[in-house]
Amino acid sequence: QPEQAATVAFAVSEHPPVLASVAVARPVRGEFTYSVPEALLGNLAPGQRVLVPFGRGTALGFYLGPSTVTLGEKVRLKPIQRVLEDSPSLPKDLIALLRFAAEHYRYPLGEVIRGALPPGLSKPVDGKEAQPDVQQFAVALVNEVPAALARAHAQSAALAYLLAVGGSAPLEEVSHAIPGARAHLKSLATKGLVRIEEKKLEAGVKEGLIQGRPDRLTPEQAAAGEQLRGALDAGAFQPFLLHGVTGSGKTEVYLRAAEHALSLGKSSLILVPEIALTPQLVGRFRSRFGAEVAVLHSALKDRERLFHWQALRRGEVKIAVGVRSAVFAPVENLGLIVVDEEHDPSFKQDDSLRYQARDLAVVRGKQASAVVVLGSATPALETLENVKKGRYRLLELKRRVDDRPMPSIELVDLRQERPREGIVTEEAPILSPPLLQAMEETLAKGQQVILFLNRRGHSTVLLCEVCGLSLKCTSCDVCLTHHRSQNRVVCHYCGLTMPVPERCLECTGPILKLGIGTERVEAEVVERIPNARVARLDRDSATSAERLTELLASFARRELDVLVGTQMVAKGHDFPGVTLVCVVMADTSLAIPDFRAAERTFHLLTQVAGRAGRGKDPGRVLVQTYNPDAEPVKRVLAHDFDGFAQQELEWRKALAYPPFARMASIRLEGEHPEQVASVARHLGNLVSRNMPPASAGVRLLGPAVAPIARIRGKTRWQLLLKGPTHVALAPLLARVETALADVPSAVKVVLDVDPGAM
Ligand code: ADP
Ligand code: ZN
Repeated sequence: QPEQAATVAFAVSEHPPVLASVAVARPVRGEFTYSVPEALLGNLAPGQRVLVPFGRGTALGFYLGPSTVTLGEKVRLKPIQRVLEDSPSLPKDLIALLRFAAEHYRYPLGEVIRGALPPGLSKPVDGKEAQPDVQQFAVALVNEVPAALARAHAQSAALAYLLAVGGSAPLEEVSHAIPGARAHLKSLATKGLVRIEEKKLEAGVKEGLIQGRPDRLTPEQAAAGEQLRGALDAGAFQPFLLHGVTGSGKTEVYLRAAEHALSLGKSSLILVPEIALTPQLVGRFRSRFGAEVAVLHSALKDRERLFHWQALRRGEVKIAVGVRSAVFAPVENLGLIVVDEEHDPSFKQDDSLRYQARDLAVVRGKQASAVVVLGSATPALETLENVKKGRYRLLELKRRVDDRPMPSIELVDLRQERPREGIVTEEAPILSPPLLQAMEETLAKGQQVILFLNRRGHSTVLLCEVCGLSLKCTSCDVCLTHHRSQNRVVCHYCGLTMPVPERCLECTGPILKLGIGTERVEAEVVERIPNARVARLDRDSATSAERLTELLASFARRELDVLVGTQMVAKGHDFPGVTLVCVVMADTSLAIPDFRAAERTFHLLTQVAGRAGRGKDPGRVLVQTYNPDAEPVKRVLAHDFDGFAQQELEWRKALAYPPFARMASIRLEGEHPEQVASVARHLGNLVSRNMPPASAGVRLLGPAVAPIARIRGKTRWQLLLKGPTHVALAPLLARVETALADVPSAVKVVLDVDPGAM
């Protein structure tokens, strides 16, 4: 942009300068134009990191290509100072993706690029090759954790992790999952239980590593596989939705597609919601393709991240499995992108660059002419709509592997099963008689049970019996949750904790503890079924990745009978011993103030139900609820995804919500309520004044106080923009963005395009 260029102009060149477009890693919008000194001519390649003068100092920049800007006569440009690396860190197709992300999510391009790079490359220093080229691997020498190790918890956790991921993994990765694992693995090595090997990362995948590959595919898997092979052979962009019921063997379809891509010399990128919760998927990729799979998780060490980046960049590693941020991995010669559990909310990042990795995966696939597979048992309505419009091809797996039956889902009406007068006492049990009976029957057969409730803590509301006042956080507008094990009340938003007040702080009346969390459910199970071995899986109990792995592993080894947990238990686990899944209260996620509440509830219930009956014994699911007539509850009971989706889509269409409209939110927060409100109103007026004619279908909702009006002492407001397309919203967002320069710094304003997008 000439304007910006002019502000940095100072140097004089005798010849007409060669101009370069550079993204500067600073929170400023747009690309900047610099001149290219003669010494650098011929040395520049798009994607290189460069050092450029910026403001009064220098900054890291990314050379994007020749600039097409036409300059006024007087404008003189500063020159690029130095090129920081010989071969570009950023591959060309990634530049295109990052440009799209910056544009779409309204975030400075330089910052987008810097955020995507491993820390080793995100500073303005000369690029170094990451050492070592040799990686240490731990290889398990046993097939299960020996009983003798039972008391060495850390060591058994390390070994359990190794076994869960297919028997071998880089030390770095295990140490991520289990802090201190390096030492534990060495101890295990002295006991002869593992071997530590050094491996050199080499191009391509070695022969003879293929293990655990089923001889036969189900007819549906085979049909899906055929379509994917055809698309891979064609070598053009083609998105697919792989809609497969839980336990239908979607992972095997991904694996075969990746195999085929590899046979064509192409790479694959596999995105998953959370690696610690799904070591099984990583394990299947590892055991199929060997250790040369790059696993990109959120807690990699800087050095490790750089190492993977460079190995992928050089095309030495052809398969990357990773979380959300891996959508930016520099995979060379991309043939296949898989997004597993594509409906999962964790694909949306909710700070800095607020991107939706699933959406970006499709964009990247298009740019790279790759095949994209979005897999789920409960596809997002956005994705379904894309199928309906003919943009994505549909592949269906309607049956479970080996024709195992889908679990039977039954309703328990809490209005009848939980005595009315009982509700206001602390003792009112939440495990109903039918639920307890089902649990006892299951346990008697030596099978396992999962109890799901999407709330942590013991009681979630503390209410004064006399004045009715509920106990709230002093700095957030939310109720405090009682955590009995800590004997404290806790704010789930800011972490504030304090001792449990004996009496109401206002009127000294007695306090009732209402609302149920996982801790309370666990206590009730212990009390009602004393001989069951029970554990709880939520953010309070799985305080470390080590604890999490250990809990999951010991449940898998059947050392536990009952697992009580939050949505952590609902993810893609494959526990063949589980034949009973109970949803303790289906109502919790229905009440959230979001137009996606019903969809989210449907997804959660289906996912958690899908944990039942994955082994040889059939599964059973009990859903306790106060709202048996709620649409998502009814449809889950009937296994009626299509009916749910159709009805929900009609509703969304009538009210112009996504996928039939696009949204963007403008969120404000600040210390001073008055100031935040006044900025919100100011932005509201600005939007209103710039509103296109009504025919454009753009609407402003708000400004209004946010659903949670205060968090960490900061008052929150929001504005919501709704319009038929992103293009329709863009001018308004641009206008707001310009106005942000004048907003007092005490008020933080965040733009979020596609807020909460699933
Ligand atoms: P999904 O992801 O669809 O819920 P998974 O991919 O986890 O299902 O597969 C369910 C189980 O079936 C896994 O234990 C998997 O190893 C097994 N499986 C998948 N495909 C086959 C097959 N063709 N033959 C035998 N077992 C299979
Ligand atoms: Zn708080």
